[in-house]
Amino acid sequence: MKKLMAANWKMFKTHEEGVATAHELVQLVSGRLPDDREMLVIPPFTLLHGVGQVLAGHKGMLLGGENFYPADQGAFTGEICPDQLLDLGCTFALAGHSERRHILGETDDFVGRKVAFGLEKGLAVILCIGETIEERRQGRVEEVLFRQLDKGLSGVTRAVDPDRMVVAYEPVWAIGTGEVAGPEEIIQAHGVVRSRLVNLLGETGNNIRILYGGSVKPDNCASILALDNVDGVLVGGASLKAESFSRIVLA
Ligand code: PGA
Repeated sequence: MKKLMAANWKMFKTHEEGVATAHELVQLVSGRLPDDREMLVIPPFTLLHGVGQVLAGHKGMLLGGENFYPADQGAFTGEICPDQLLDLGCTFALAGHSERRHILGETDDFVGRKVAFGLEKGLAVILCIGETIEERRQGRVEEVLFRQLDKGLSGVTRAVDPDRMVVAYEPVWAIGTGEVAGPEEIIQAHGVVRSRLVNLLGETGNNIRILYGGSVKPDNCASILALDNVDGVLVGGASLKAESFSRIVLA
């Protein structure tokens, strides 16, 4: 299984800044990326074309979209469809990032529709899941992860290509807070995710990558990657500077 090292740029950077960061990243990472690693840059839609052009042709450097609407095309003002992402060279897309769930009101059922549709259109989809701090305090981590996985994967069968289905465990309380989950918490949650994946998808579930996300930094990345069932990372804040994200990618 190749480790997937993903940068989520969220709603940051002008076109010029994004392209410059991509150039720097290529310079820092090119030729040093091990064969068993992939680097994925997920910029805002306005930067997909420019960043895609910079990454194109570099081995193991991939482009992804932060979101998409589950329809072929149509009257969906402000939305973007999988074909439009594919057209710009995206191979991956996020579905159900916690900011979309909690700020934009996306439901588990809607996220499940997106996952199924994105896969059908040929994207690799990263389903993002994770509990809030209240849910953790109430001892409901497992229940929340089960629900988000069951609904998020409701349209996915064991015939799915495991290279195109990824789950990112991102505890909401660790996103953008500087408070990274501890090794025990990560091992525990990733174990829960793995066993549910096998429950739902049989042997295929063993080959689906599970990323950790939430305050990943250059100095904690290597120890997180060494934990059981951690097959990569999804990085927000520390992915915005090429120097810091390149250290994470090569950690
Ligand atoms: P962070 O964000 O690395 O800034 O905590 C992670 C994410 O939201 O994917």
